[in-house]
Amino acid sequence: MVHAPARPPAGAPPVRINLYSDTQTRPTAAMREAMMAAEVGDEQFGDDPTVNELCDRMAALMGKEAAMFLPSGTMCNVVAILTHCRPGEEVLAHETAHILSSEGGVHAALAGVQINPLQGARGMFSAETLRAAIRPATRYAPPQRLLEVEQTANIGGGGVWPQAELDAVVAVAREQGWSTHMDGARLMNAVVASGIPAAEMVAGFDSVWLDFTKGLGAPLGAVLAGSEEFIGNAWRWKQRLGGSMRQAGICAAACIHALDHHIDRLAEDHANAKALARGLRQIPGMAVEEPDTNLVFFDPAGAGIDATKLVATLRMQGIQISMLGGRIRACLHLDVTATMVDETLAAIREAVAAA
Ligand SMILES: *Cc1c(COP(=O)(O)O)cnc(C)c1O
Repeated sequence: MVHAPARPPAGAPPVRINLYSDTQTRPTAAMREAMMAAEVGDEQFGDDPTVNELCDRMAALMGKEAAMFLPSGTMCNVVAILTHCRPGEEVLAHETAHILSSEGGVHAALAGVQINPLQGARGMFSAETLRAAIRPATRYAPPQRLLEVEQTANIGGGGVWPQAELDAVVAVAREQGWSTHMDGARLMNAVVASGIPAAEMVAGFDSVWLDFTKGLGAPLGAVLAGSEEFIGNAWRWKQRLGGSMRQAGICAAACIHALDHHIDRLAEDHANAKALARGLRQIPGMAVEEPDTNLVFFDPAGAGIDATKLVATLRMQGIQISMLGGRIRACLHLDVTATMVDETLAAIREAVAAA
């Protein structure tokens, strides 16, 4: 029996402030209009002009030759790993990586790869750690094939890899002859926070993808980019997995709208995250991780209230927030305003005082 996410507790009011996840944004009125107006065709026939425009723009933004539209970020990881690796090969990734914890074991089930979990603070690892994980090329050791990094590192607290560290791990992979893949679910948050252009940030990666359903606010869709040859090979897996679509331009139009209107504004989410962290830190005993981007992780135990209890108390006031890796995660996004952050802080202060 596989459990579904918990339903709201009995008597809970509707959610008024949704800090649960940046995946829960609703398409804006302007985004819906763009979707309604989209020119469409047969995507798997290569004939949907809106999908083609999105892929061309994403290839240019990422500095890669080609790109493909897929229904989800998970499918981008699956298609990329299937394309890069053969069964029995090893992928090197952080121990908290989404590919390890949150994709249903698909990389073992379908690609037949094993994932070597690397350690390091904030969802990142050093070139030294990566180097220490190099296996000898013997007949005993699994062949190592792919370096995978997350930008931003999700469970790591939405942290942005310092560019020098990213370049250093890529250099190790290159020297070993491994391919490189970036899970860029929240890549544009890293780009906005660091000021480093996307193409420069991902230059060392053979494949990279961006999720349009996180802070960018689209209802579905992610785009995987790489060389002409990589994307050409990836198409076979897209087709095999049932990820080839038809009039997908309706959804690609939402993604194009997000590229035009929802990237610069990510800075507001980052400012709201910092304001939330600042307010939380003023509560005595609250353990708060300084956010790089739009995710704020905190643990209220030291302030005298259990994390699970705080989450439940907030939910009864229409504030939805998640627990992840034993801490509370607040996610800032385009449906959360600065006023909502103040209201949340007031509710948390009240819950702590009552506890
Ligand atoms: C959300 C997420 C994914 C998966 O994306 P979906 O669009 O939800 O399938 C993969 N990696 C990271 C880091 C994510 O945050």
